[in-house]
Amino acid sequence: MLKQKRKGFCRIHNNPAPPLLRIFVILKSEEMRHLVWILILVPGLTNCSYSQNTVKKNTMTNNEKKPAVYSKTDSSKVEISDEEWKKMLSPEVYNIARQKGTERPWTSKYEKFDEKGTYYCAACGNPLFVSDTKFESGCGWPSFYQPISKTSIIYIPDNSHGMARTEVECGRCKAHLGHVFEDGPPPTGLRYCINGVILDFEKAKETEKKYKNPG
Ligand SMILES: [Zn+2]
Repeated sequence: MLKQKRKGFCRIHNNPAPPLLRIFVILKSEEMRHLVWILILVPGLTNCSYSQNTVKKNTMTNNEKKPAVYSKTDSSKVEISDEEWKKMLSPEVYNIARQKGTERPWTSKYEKFDEKGTYYCAACGNPLFVSDTKFESGCGWPSFYQPISKTSIIYIPDNSHGMARTEVECGRCKAHLGHVFEDGPPPTGLRYCINGVILDFEKAKETEKKYKNPG
């Protein structure tokens, strides 16, 4: 058997026949026929498993993004235990929302992002900001000069890290969002410096855009 296999290879090396003819020569050997089948099947199987992983990952991401308390229309306050939050939120959102973490600057996809739409609290769905009030602050985090409404945000004095700052939290679920500073642009002069991880963006619908910009 080994002799036959070697013979086949030698024949290919010595013979300057076209590629198609070489394949026929190889297929004369039963072992090589099996090898061809393996070469055809293995990449196919790899692609299948890759597709399944991708679908699974996307499904999981969508589920993780919408905690049980998430609602864009229910304005009732959300008061649940830290343990329950931990179960519902992804580790990244939990760290910012419940442990007052700060994402690394320049890492948010919303930092340089100018799509028209609305930004909601990623933990509870409370509407926080509209894209019209977003501006390039250069500070490394998504920045806005005004929240959607007075109930969007809660203001908390923050004297941690030797600084006198004002923390901003979600008005519905008290998730930590970031801080507000008085060096923003007109008309408010405020800069709401927000962690992108806690923002959930929804693009403006085509009909609304048409309504705002007729013709
Ligand atoms: Zn919230």
